[in-house]
Amino acid sequence: MHEARYYTQKSGNKTRCLLCPHNCLIADEKAGICRVRINHGGVLYSGVYGEVAALHADPIEKKPLYHFYPGSKILSIGTAGCNLRCEFCQNYNLSQFEPCHSSRTRKITPQQLVHLALEDNENIGIAYTYNEPTVFFEMMTDTARLVRESGLKNVVVSNGFINPEPLKELLETTDAFNIDLKAFNDFFYKKVTGGRLVPVMDSLKMIHQAGRHLEITLLLIPGLNDSPEEFERMLEWIAGQLSPDIPLHLTRYFPAWKMDRPPTPLHTLHQFTEMAGSKLNFVYTGNVTGNLYSSTFCPDCQQLLIERQGYGCKIKGLSKDNKCSGCGYPIPLVQ
Ligand code: SF4
Repeated sequence: MHEARYYTQKSGNKTRCLLCPHNCLIADEKAGICRVRINHGGVLYSGVYGEVAALHADPIEKKPLYHFYPGSKILSIGTAGCNLRCEFCQNYNLSQFEPCHSSRTRKITPQQLVHLALEDNENIGIAYTYNEPTVFFEMMTDTARLVRESGLKNVVVSNGFINPEPLKELLETTDAFNIDLKAFNDFFYKKVTGGRLVPVMDSLKMIHQAGRHLEITLLLIPGLNDSPEEFERMLEWIAGQLSPDIPLHLTRYFPAWKMDRPPTPLHTLHQFTEMAGSKLNFVYTGNVTGNLYSSTFCPDCQQLLIERQGYGCKIKGLSKDNKCSGCGYPIPLVQ
């Protein structure tokens, strides 16, 4: 196994992991909350280094990232494990399984991953996604450095529950992030996810202040995080502390893992999309067929800029220097 980083040794062969805000104190021969960082004799190891559980070439829109190389493909990887326990997790078969179930993983090195990424001329880089990439931090950052050297891009899709020091390191090689903001109240975070809200807000601020491309996703769950007042506060915070140009993805919840509430009503999704549109310039909905809110429009003259159908997209009204071809409004977009 590969030795972990961001930990300290404690008396009695214990270790304190400093990677995420849980800061687990881990006894000898035990694992942290994420179940993939394991203490052997006072040395902390990553149990998932090189143990890839999912590997696919995905449309970038699937991350979801709508303002970062629209229409491109990205090699996407994940392992086992997560530092949260969201009862509604849509990827629980990856996030909640133990790394010792090696029949479900494939051994692959960072060098091999970069080689795979370079094989396809249309591939723009590697996305660290599916489960929570913070828990495979060592493999992610080793791979990301090689990806950078090869001229490709790194994308991180995360819950944002990471400590500032490792995030600072991650910012050095990451080109774009999609961060889940799961609710705007700490009670929800503690009760339903096992995390906390403030560290996620701090991560969002750090990413934005570092000038990295950032998009945010909120999965709307009926009766749990769909209070209009709370959503209004979230929107004000995003617009005021980050930017009204941050794309927000409102996605429809479906029952998964431990949660059997009915899916998000479409009228709620539409109501929240309209609310968000009054504070933010780019709001999208996801997990919906025949989606009305998947294309990009100019916030100034409403011209159609990028038309999306499913994961397919066509650039229609955007100049090469990312301005609306109708009115010249600059569109915050990387391509
Ligand atoms: S990364 Fe895992 S072991 Fe480390 S503090 Fe977080 S949950 Fe605990």
